[in-house]
Amino acid sequence: MEALKDKIIREGQAVGTGIVKVDGFLNHQIDVKFMDEIGKEFRRRFADIEVDKILTVEASGIGIACMTAPYFGYPPVVFAKKTTPSTMTEDFYGAEAKSFTKGTVSIIRVAKKYLHEGDRVLILDDFLAHGQAALAMTQLVQQAGAKVLGIGAVIEKGFQGGGQKLRQAGFRLESLAVIEKIDDGTIAFV
Ligand code: 5GP
Repeated sequence: MEALKDKIIREGQAVGTGIVKVDGFLNHQIDVKFMDEIGKEFRRRFADIEVDKILTVEASGIGIACMTAPYFGYPPVVFAKKTTPSTMTEDFYGAEAKSFTKGTVSIIRVAKKYLHEGDRVLILDDFLAHGQAALAMTQLVQQAGAKVLGIGAVIEKGFQGGGQKLRQAGFRLESLAVIEKIDDGTIAFV
C-alpha cells in the first residue's frame, strides 16, 4: 500500500535496527481517515472471504479492527486481553505470547462465549515481527474449533521472520507494508 509506505517514511521513526515508531497515526494518536483507508485495503486484499468475527489483541489492534469491520459487513470485533481483569470471570481460551516490545511472556485470553466452533475469523494486528502475537491468536481460534481465514498486518517487518513462519504454517497472510531493513534511521521496504 503505497500511501502507507509514504506515511511511514514521512511520519514514522526508526528506533535502532528493529523497531518502528508510528505513534503519530497508529499507536498513540490515530489518523482515523487514514485508518479507514487501511480498512478498505484489507477488504480489497481479502475480497473473496466473508467472516463471522475479526480477532485482534489489545490495545493497538482494536482501532484497526473496528475500522475494518464495516468493510466486512460489521462482524463483531473481539480483542484478546493481555491481562486478566477481575471482571473476566468466565471460562476463556488462552495462549502464550512473548511480547516483542516488552520481552515478557504473557497469556492472551478470549472468553469462550465470544469465539465459537465454526466461526470464520480474520485476525488483524498493527505489527508483525516474530509472529508471536499472531500465532497466539491462531491458537485461540483453534481452541474454539473456529477457522482462521486470513491474517492481516498493517506493517510486517519481513526480516524478523514472523511472516515466513505464518506462511509456512499455511496461513494466508496479507501485510499492507513490508519492511526489509531498518538501518541508520532509514526504513527500507521490500
Ligand atoms: P510479534 O508478536 O509478531 O513478535 O510482534 C507483534 C506485536 O508486537 C504487535 O502486536 C505490536 O504491538 C508489537 N510490535 C512489534 N514490532 C513493533 C514495532 O516495530 N513497533 C511497534 N510500535 N510495535 C511493535
